[in-house]
Amino acid sequence: MLQIHINNPYTMLDTAIKINIQSIKKSRIDEVDFDNLPFGRIFSDHMYVADYKDGNWEEPSIIPYGGMQVTPAISGLHYGQCVFEGTKAYKSTDGHAQLFRPQANFKRINKSAKRLCMPEIPQEIFMQGLTELIKLDASWIPSSQKGSLYIRPLYFAVDEFIGVKPSSSYKFVIITCPVGAYYLEPVNVMVSTKYIRAFNGGVGEYKVAGNYAPCLVAAKEANQVGYHNMLWMNAFNPKLIEEIGTMNIFFVINDEVITPRLNGNILEGITRDSVITLLKDKGIKITDRDISIDEIVEAHEKKILQEAFGTGTAAAIAHIAKISYNSKELILPPLKERKIGPLLANLLNGIKTSEIPDKHNWVYQL
Ligand SMILES: *Cc1c(COP(=O)(O)O)cnc(C)c1O
Repeated sequence: MLQIHINNPYTMLDTAIKINIQSIKKSRIDEVDFDNLPFGRIFSDHMYVADYKDGNWEEPSIIPYGGMQVTPAISGLHYGQCVFEGTKAYKSTDGHAQLFRPQANFKRINKSAKRLCMPEIPQEIFMQGLTELIKLDASWIPSSQKGSLYIRPLYFAVDEFIGVKPSSSYKFVIITCPVGAYYLEPVNVMVSTKYIRAFNGGVGEYKVAGNYAPCLVAAKEANQVGYHNMLWMNAFNPKLIEEIGTMNIFFVINDEVITPRLNGNILEGITRDSVITLLKDKGIKITDRDISIDEIVEAHEKKILQEAFGTGTAAAIAHIAKISYNSKELILPPLKERKIGPLLANLLNGIKTSEIPDKHNWVYQL
């Protein structure tokens, strides 16, 4: 049985479930070079698995990380009933394992699941699985200077049936990867005039697996001309900015921070929400509204476009160095002249590692 932390905001669970734990015989941790961690290629010792069949969740397990048996007929592979999440565990500067806003990931995975006709994951299946897994593999969380433990919850349909209908069985798994710092260099982004990521009534605001494969070709074409990623525009108004790659976007114009308003196509980033809250805390003007690329070009010409950055769990804050739009190249001020992006990066990192007080109860100590 899970220990319940009475005064913890995330463990107000009505029911605690039993999780079978089958631990590894010998940890692989000694093989890992924590000073050179590639993103998403090294997996910790254990994974969490919960199965849903015909209306019921079976007793979940934590088992050694490794292959899973599925057949080529599983419906999740064919028709994409598959959603996921991304969050991280951090080490505080004094060595405690902690999570950042995991409840927000829990809510968002169920929002995504609902959109794809998948049953909601009960809170205890998600939260207890997550916390027990991270506690067991806490030694895999890099120290606060070296990185963090990336956490990937994944939920997919496993009916062995080749017909288009909602599956009656599903698998929910959580795997984790120690990762180093991500996107250290400022990024170059390119306005996508050829491809569209999302459209009204579609699935842009959900973390569904099917959103990513169609974007690969765009990122590939951007890479070929020296850009890291695409700046995604609205499907019906190609001047309207939505997101970059897999991050939300913010601009600083004339000391005011602006970010595209959530219009149904934009993924509701937890980092985006945290950044908005932190800016308000600091008394910095932040507005979420429609933003056109013409406005950004104009601000750049007037020399009042001070900063642009992406936000997401993987990179936290990714400073944008250059934006390309048709034949124009907007070069943004160098990092040393920026204030807000670096301030936010420090605040987020400080809160996640408990160097800065956590006023909003975002940190969940394990
Ligand atoms: C996950 C994701 C984000 C960022 O969300 P966070 O919760 O901040 O990590 C932004 N855009 C897309 C398309 C994403 O998939």
